[in-house]
Parts: sequence; structure tokens; C-alpha cells
Amino acid sequence: MKNLVLDFDGVIGDTFEVLVEAVARFTGVKKDFARKIVLNAGMKNRSYNFLTNFLGRIYFSRVLKMIQGREDLLFQKRIDEIGDIPNQKAILTRSDSRVCKYILGQNQDTFSIILGRNEASTKILGIQKLVEKYGFEKEKIVFVTDTVGDILELSKILELKQIYAVSWGFHSRDLLEKYLPSSQVIDSFYELNLS
Ligand SMILES: [Mg+2]
Repeated sequence: MKNLVLDFDGVIGDTFEVLVEAVARFTGVKKDFARKIVLNAGMKNRSYNFLTNFLGRIYFSRVLKMIQGREDLLFQKRIDEIGDIPNQKAILTRSDSRVCKYILGQNQDTFSIILGRNEASTKILGIQKLVEKYGFEKEKIVFVTDTVGDILELSKILELKQIYAVSWGFHSRDLLEKYLPSSQVIDSFYELNLS
């Protein structure tokens, strides 16, 4: 049985516009430019790029204030699909896990482990932690993301066939298919083969 490891923003969390809004509001740039910043930051996972540095400083307190009371920041249909999957499920995100848990609300219970930037500052460190601390077998991990930067980073520690991307996230199917076979860009979690 495979272990499903999921990125949060763009895969489970419908957070693109909130991030754009946060970058625009807290830096003073126009929204169109903020949109470019968010899309570009997803192309390459540096341990410190502008966005992660920025979010690390302000995400928890100010973004938490921005999203207070909002119940429209989850891809609820995708949460339902994930709920139907019997395999062990973990979230590995470079956002603050407290923000991630706030957005998930009761849906947190769907996931046995939630690791954020406070627990693992890179996706590679997060995979290592899942293996060393939580007993995941590296060969059995199936990782699902929505950005090119994650595909590039994770392919250093996983085989490419273990990495999938969703068609509904930050990066478009056209872009993702430049880095993954089109059969690994999915329109539904039901397309995953996890047996
Ligand atoms: Mg993402």
C-alpha cells in the first residue's frame, strides 16, 4: 500500500488569490505583479526565496488575520476524494502548518501527519523526516503537488514516477506537462494508483 504525501497550497488549499492579495497588500505592489511573484516563486524552490522569506515573517500573524472566518479556502471536492482513499495520508507544505490547520478545520482528521515550514524547511527535509521519524518507506511514497519547483526538488529524492501534479493548482497543466508525463498530471485524486 502506497503512502500519499500531499502539498497543501494549490492541491488542497484554494489559496492562490489569498497569497496574491497578501503579497500585494503587504509589499504595496500591484495585484498583477503580485500574481507574477507567486507564480515565479513556484518555479524554483529555494530555501530562501522572496515569497518564503516574506511569508515566514508575516504569514502566520497577518495572513491568519486575513483568512479569519473564511470557509472558501479549501477545494472541498478534493477533500472528499481524498477522504475516499484508504491509504495513509500526510501533508507536507512550506506554509506555516498552523495556517494550514486553520484552513483545514475539521478536515485535519483526514491526514495522519501535517508538516509545515516549522517542522521541515524544505520538501526534501520533509520527506526525510517522514521516513526517519514516521516510518514511511521512501519507495512507497506518492507525492502530489501543483508546482514545477516541487517537481524539481522532489525528483532529487524520489523517482519521477512517484511524483504527480494536479491540474487545478497554481501552475497550469501545459506548464506541468513540460516536467512530468501527461499521465502524471491528474484531474482527480481517483486517477492515482495507490495499491
Ligand atoms: Mg503548492
